[in-house]
Amino acid sequence: MEKDHEAGFETRAIHLGRDFVSDTGAVTPPVWLTSTFEYGNPKGFDYTRSGNPNFRLLDRAVASLEGAAYSTCFGSGVSAITAVVSTLKSGDLVVAEENIYGCTFRLFAQVFAKFGVSVKYLDFTNPESLETLAALHPTLVWIESPTNPNLKIIDIAAVAGAAHAAGAPLIVDNTFASSYLQRPIELGADLSLISLTKYANGHSDALAGAVCTNSEEWRDKMIFAQKALGLQPAPMDCWLTSRGLKTEAIRMERHCENALAFARFLEDETRAVAVRYPFLPSHPQYELAKRQMSGGSGIVTVDFGLSLAETLAFVERLTLFPKAESLGGVESLCCHPASMTHASVPKETREAVGITDALVRFSVGIETVADLIADVGQALPDSLKR
Ligand SMILES: *Cc1c(COP(=O)(O)O)cnc(C)c1O
Repeated sequence: MEKDHEAGFETRAIHLGRDFVSDTGAVTPPVWLTSTFEYGNPKGFDYTRSGNPNFRLLDRAVASLEGAAYSTCFGSGVSAITAVVSTLKSGDLVVAEENIYGCTFRLFAQVFAKFGVSVKYLDFTNPESLETLAALHPTLVWIESPTNPNLKIIDIAAVAGAAHAAGAPLIVDNTFASSYLQRPIELGADLSLISLTKYANGHSDALAGAVCTNSEEWRDKMIFAQKALGLQPAPMDCWLTSRGLKTEAIRMERHCENALAFARFLEDETRAVAVRYPFLPSHPQYELAKRQMSGGSGIVTVDFGLSLAETLAFVERLTLFPKAESLGGVESLCCHPASMTHASVPKETREAVGITDALVRFSVGIETVADLIADVGQALPDSLKR
């Protein structure tokens, strides 16, 4: 385990998890497409719902890249969320960031509420939220940073301190930042959850998720949830994600570079009302972002100040940004949160957290950035051109 953390990020991403192929010399491991294993095999596999060599290879690399002792992989980010919430019981309270991922909100509101788990939402960029935490007696504190789609940056170390003082573990959804740019466990979080579907895989061709931790107790709970709830990934998806990890570092460098140039163009050269990107000096938590992350990642969120119809027409004129949910792939995408990712959040709740009809979220890919900028430029209505 020790040497899993020794080499550089890129070296670990490429070399970890080759131990299952040492007897054949294959440079790339196979996909173990098997549902079951012969009883008594030396590695102790029994049935793929509770473990498969492709899970182990992926988990070893993900844990190391997150700076954690353990990773447990799941069929998707939402399966990973389900696994964590399944450890709670009736009467438990989760205190969560109010600008939480739409599907996490829906799971809490429409599934786990029925089992008696309640959630209180706070704005974690407000220091008063941390002062009120202890009095709420939370069972679990749930944040993400940057948040979706507003890109609020939450001080992970500060929230970890307040959560621990309140006797609760902290979980951070690290999907938007990626393991390359931010490591919540090193900042004091107990659990770091990632939708590997996004930056880790990077090619938009598989779904997977993971929960990372240094706690053996949490690791055991995650392995139990994986098999007891049937939340396991497919071996092929693990293989694709393991392949994606090998280029995560260079992809993230380009995502950051492109997104910063794209955000600067929108801020300096257009009349958009607000451009949000963590590494723009105009971002309200710019200093914190610089401290906590090694790059701004690939998402840029813009409030164009247009009507709903004008916003949708603008999005339709884009040619290099297909309108699609998801993010983190090599290809650029754009999303209209109010009608897509956050459509399941009631309009009043949505607007209260700043998700207006004029908001567009860009997942800036690794294409030639001049082409991306030219495309957004041609799609702008005249009223927004400078
Ligand atoms: C996509 C996403 C998830 C869910 O992941 P899936 O792999 O799509 O199930 C969770 N959290 C965040 C922040 C995400 O962007």
